[in-house]
Amino acid sequence: MTARRIAIVPHTHWDREWYKSYQDFRLALVELIDTLIPLLERDASYPHFMLDGQMAVVDDYLEVRPEAEERLRALAAAGRVSVGPWYILMDEFLASGETIIRNLQMGLERGAAFGGVMDVGYLPDMFGHIAQMPQLLRLGGFRDAVVWRGVPSAVTKNAFTWEAPDGSAVRAEYLPVGYGNGAALPDDAKALVRRISDNVDEVAEFLTGDLLCMNGSDHLMPQPGLGRVVAEANDLQDDYLFEVTSLPRYLARGTSDGLTTVQGELRSGYRANMLMGVTSNRVDVKRQGALAERELERRAEPLSALFRPATEYPDRLLALAWREVVRNSAHDSICACSVDDVVDAVLHRYAEARTIAAGLADRAVKSFARSLAIPGPSVLNASARSRDGLVELVVPADGPATDDVQVLSERSGVPGSMVLDADTVRTVLGMMQGPRISDDAWIHDVRIEDTEEGIDITIAVGTEEKPGVPIAEAKQDVYTRLGARPDSVIRVAMDQPSTRRIVARTAEVPGYGWTAFEAAPLSSPASVTEEGTSVVLDNGLVRVDIDGKTGTFGLDGIPGYGRLVDEGDLGDSYNYSPPRQDSVIDTPEAVTVQVTERGPVRARARITATYVWPDHVDGSSQARVGEHRVDVETDVEMRADDRVIRVTTTFVNPSGDHRLRVHLPLREPATHSRAVSPFTVVTRGLTAEGRADEFGLPTAPANRFVTAGRLTVAHEGVCEYELVDVEGDTARTLALTVLRATGMLSRLGMAYRPFPAGPMTPVEGLQMRGKRVTLRYALAVDCDDPYRLADDVLLPLEVASSLGGGTRPSAGSELTVHGAEVSALHRVGGVLEVRVFNPHPEPTTVSFGDRSGWLVDLRGYPLEPFEGSFELRPFGIATMRLHGE
Ligand SMILES: [Zn+2]
Repeated sequence: MTARRIAIVPHTHWDREWYKSYQDFRLALVELIDTLIPLLERDASYPHFMLDGQMAVVDDYLEVRPEAEERLRALAAAGRVSVGPWYILMDEFLASGETIIRNLQMGLERGAAFGGVMDVGYLPDMFGHIAQMPQLLRLGGFRDAVVWRGVPSAVTKNAFTWEAPDGSAVRAEYLPVGYGNGAALPDDAKALVRRISDNVDEVAEFLTGDLLCMNGSDHLMPQPGLGRVVAEANDLQDDYLFEVTSLPRYLARGTSDGLTTVQGELRSGYRANMLMGVTSNRVDVKRQGALAERELERRAEPLSALFRPATEYPDRLLALAWREVVRNSAHDSICACSVDDVVDAVLHRYAEARTIAAGLADRAVKSFARSLAIPGPSVLNASARSRDGLVELVVPADGPATDDVQVLSERSGVPGSMVLDADTVRTVLGMMQGPRISDDAWIHDVRIEDTEEGIDITIAVGTEEKPGVPIAEAKQDVYTRLGARPDSVIRVAMDQPSTRRIVARTAEVPGYGWTAFEAAPLSSPASVTEEGTSVVLDNGLVRVDIDGKTGTFGLDGIPGYGRLVDEGDLGDSYNYSPPRQDSVIDTPEAVTVQVTERGPVRARARITATYVWPDHVDGSSQARVGEHRVDVETDVEMRADDRVIRVTTTFVNPSGDHRLRVHLPLREPATHSRAVSPFTVVTRGLTAEGRADEFGLPTAPANRFVTAGRLTVAHEGVCEYELVDVEGDTARTLALTVLRATGMLSRLGMAYRPFPAGPMTPVEGLQMRGKRVTLRYALAVDCDDPYRLADDVLLPLEVASSLGGGTRPSAGSELTVHGAEVSALHRVGGVLEVRVFNPHPEPTTVSFGDRSGWLVDLRGYPLEPFEGSFELRPFGIATMRLHGE
């Protein structure tokens, strides 16, 4: 009998932040790598250490020990340390697809400075895996994945073939007991042999060859003396051949023959906890994450790439914003299964990234406005698809408004003048920092004149920003004149025309293009009628009946939309868990409905429903106790010529230990749902695989939209949903989780997950008490293009006000992309790069008009050239670099 080879891979699993803050864990990280470097340098029998598949640990260390960089580089170049490939070990469901790719690219780029990254798609601790991961890995040049959580019961060996929807496949090494099966090995050879014998027995049915012994776990230090004890163990017996090695060397010996093939996402809880409840804890974090990603991916990058000169492309600022977003995508960061210090840091990073992205996007829009030849408002479309939509803008109020626009507010002009003394003028000028007076009023001109009595100042105000108005000079001029004539009287005259804020429908705007604003005629105007306590919104295409008693609304005759169902949750940050004596609150105590906009362009009503929610779940009785009165406001909006109903629900959460969901009736019973996952739409049934250790709760994340039973719901941020009201094998309702409030990072003895999944630490922030919770979503029946719906709802058309004087014509487009969804449009080294994906089961032709370029992989290596268009396989992802500007 030949000896079984035992491949020991020393490593650590480094959650950058979790039950302690980033800085806390970093202190330990510095100690770890301070120990590791000399250990590897002096002990050749300790041949290798894996730095957890993520470059962040290297950067976090070198920030403190810059002098150690050369030594670490030398060890990496010699193959003694493996680094990357990721920048961080992300959560795959809660980050956007683009964030996952940038994470990999950051890891590859940073790893290049250390002789290259580990050639393995290492995914040890993620809470399940997305369907397209095998394709992303192949596009990144990887053939191997290493996974633990989410693997279904169909996998019975320690390796399987994992296939993405496009057919791309990787060999997936399955860690049957996780990434720490070889943690804390005994320092005694006999004990080591016994321990490994137990390890082999534990997973014997899975083994196809060697035993992979992952020598490390969460934040564990390397074990000095490992080389010695392994050599002694080899001398002692012949059953096992111990070898300290690297993951790539172990995988190189693995067979790919006869492996089970698993297609698509891995979300089974059959063998390891899926921890599916992280999607719905700290909904504020998930929402801020999505807002930051959208601002970066859909506004800052494309608008900067198309409407600013290539030489002014803000690479560095965008990289800073991306770094924050990528760091936040770490599985314990965006998952918010963390202490409050960590969640605060995550929210701050998202705020920083979003501020940078929004500022860059606004600068690009201004750059566009300045380039227009003709003055006036223009409508700009930051998406690839040509579309119409509503815009709000401020226009001069000359004459009555036309039938096609809806006036939201009016402001009469400010003619006339006021007389001020010198001190008041100095105070006012001191407060004036620039040409902006209000949201939509900008100083266009300042004229200053000396008169017999004093000084006359005339200020002309317009509705758009006018560059180059010499405000600072004018202020200085006034100060100088006041200095010369300290007792003079100052007359300030404002020259501001009357304006109105309107909302109107625009004609079609080309993809990545613009047109001068013109209100389009309305064929199906929106109207409002009030009948007793009920309100009806109708545009001839769709009808909404708001019920003044229940606070819900009917959609084309089917009632019950927007029903808020509140129930107890004695779970933790990882899992929902109903208390033993649950009570459900789904009826408000009082309801008022107020019409806030009456059409014809847009009709809106606000439902204010007052509920009495219990305060918390009593630990011993497990009943919900106490009470709070809470007003939940829901705005329901209908637009002219549009079948989509937009809804925003918001409230300040007063209670703990509860889960709030909004119920949305399906149009017909459904056996499955279809939800957005990065780079594809996945189909999910009504059940999920689980086990005694974790109930297979069929709640799942949707990234932007979910469809079931002819109803499509587009929503802001990743949302948790579940198909409920199940009878037989069909469901009748889609429940979206608005909030899940628990006070524990992890807990023992829960109904749905008896054993803890992390430290049992109370975390006040997880209760979300006193926090404003906002859920924005839109409903469409029989929607044939949910990606279009999501863009219309989440990425509105932009308005740019121009003073003219540029060279750009009044309509046009900077780039044509047809035939696929665009994931990224940005510049890499000055060159336009576009990433698209085909979410459909048929091949598509992706066309770029007359543009040509190269298809590249995720490392930027050229694959093949194209002229104008190319074929993209079903569910394929492709990245192109375009020639020319
Ligand atoms: Zn982890």
